[in-house]
Amino acid sequence: MAKKEKLECSFCGRKKSETNLLIAGLDSHICDRCIEQAHNIVLEEVLVGQTDTDGLSGELVVKIPKEIKAFLDDYVVGQKQTKKVMSVAVYNHFKRLLQPEKEENIEIEKSNIIMVGETGTGKTLMVKTIARMLNVPFAIVDATVLTEAGYVGEDVETILTRLLQAADYNVEKAEKGIVFIDEIDKIARKSANPSVTRDVSGEGVQQALLKLLEGTVVNVPPKGGRKHPDQKFIQVNTKNILFIAGGAFDGIERVISNRLNMQAVGYSASLSDDKVDEDNLLQYVIPKDLKEFGLIPEIIGRLPVLTYMYPLDAKTLRAILTEPKNSLIKQYKKLFEMDGIDLKFEEKALNYIVEKAIEYKLGARGLRSLCEAVLTDAMFELPGTDTKEFIVTKNYAEDKISKTEIKQLKAVS
Ligand code: ADP
Repeated sequence: MAKKEKLECSFCGRKKSETNLLIAGLDSHICDRCIEQAHNIVLEEVLVGQTDTDGLSGELVVKIPKEIKAFLDDYVVGQKQTKKVMSVAVYNHFKRLLQPEKEENIEIEKSNIIMVGETGTGKTLMVKTIARMLNVPFAIVDATVLTEAGYVGEDVETILTRLLQAADYNVEKAEKGIVFIDEIDKIARKSANPSVTRDVSGEGVQQALLKLLEGTVVNVPPKGGRKHPDQKFIQVNTKNILFIAGGAFDGIERVISNRLNMQAVGYSASLSDDKVDEDNLLQYVIPKDLKEFGLIPEIIGRLPVLTYMYPLDAKTLRAILTEPKNSLIKQYKKLFEMDGIDLKFEEKALNYIVEKAIEYKLGARGLRSLCEAVLTDAMFELPGTDTKEFIVTKNYAEDKISKTEIKQLKAVS
């Protein structure tokens, strides 16, 4: 009898009769409920562990420029020059963060960056990849929604609200984060001459942004916007936040071309030797061109690192399909593999997808919608069958894409 009484859960003390299952160990027991609970604890721990590597906790990971570039190479195809420039800028930024306060009198200035390049050339991808590698919070904001305080739209402070959210409201971490301001070209003032009338969407926003870029303590509404008038503000110092701005700057080639031609006239001897690559004028962009385009000089001064993205040609698009660590084709292969199917593409099929992306002017984003168009039927039909291998031929890809409307392809991109 006494022995029977001993049969109880060593964790919660329930008797065997009170449990559905009691499992015996060496000299203890555990019941089904405690197993369940322990399992949940394990799951929670795993999740917490994952956020650690997601950049919300843990130490700053400082890498030397070559390491930063190598990491970028795994995810971003081409854009060699920009990778180099960004790696150095980011490295210098972190050196600046690590510099002991008051050390000598040399103050290293911020290396905020501005990227000029057509949409879909990988600007966001580049910044996202860097943020992930460095283990810092990261926020993307669209400059087009920003307005001067008092106008309809978002105040520039809400940029920091996003960053705070990304940092799980840990101010210290947010203050070392990275902010990507997309479409900065859309807040250019319409003419290079300062206008007398107030320009809501352009210069005013640039002025407001200026303060953030310079480094200042900002009262940030934690939830953003003016819909929560009672919320308490959180003070965030932007001194150590790295700002990276990007924009397509449509038409800036004309500005660059004019400048180059004028220079050619002025200094014909020096320039005539250097052949100008007319197909990619962006590589010659200088701060003055941005001013001509309508950014105010102060903003340009606060974004001292200027770089450009090459337009994506067929070779790059083809590489984007298969080369990055998490390339589209690798992702689809994984999805099929989970159904026990080996997905293969004929080389010609991949080239055909690239051709269509170029023909329909879909860019890299279009690769995704084209792949969806090719594979949706197979992804619907094959699970549950005993198919072990699926090969996408050029004919198959052609057939599926021809049945998809261009409108649909563009909608995803
Ligand atoms: P942007 O910010 O310049 O408009 P994105 O970074 O958003 O462009 O790029 C859109 C998508 O295209 C990315 O998610 C990525 O899949 C793909 N992409 C664009 N450029 C590249 C590149 N150079 N290498 C790898 N993928 C790219």
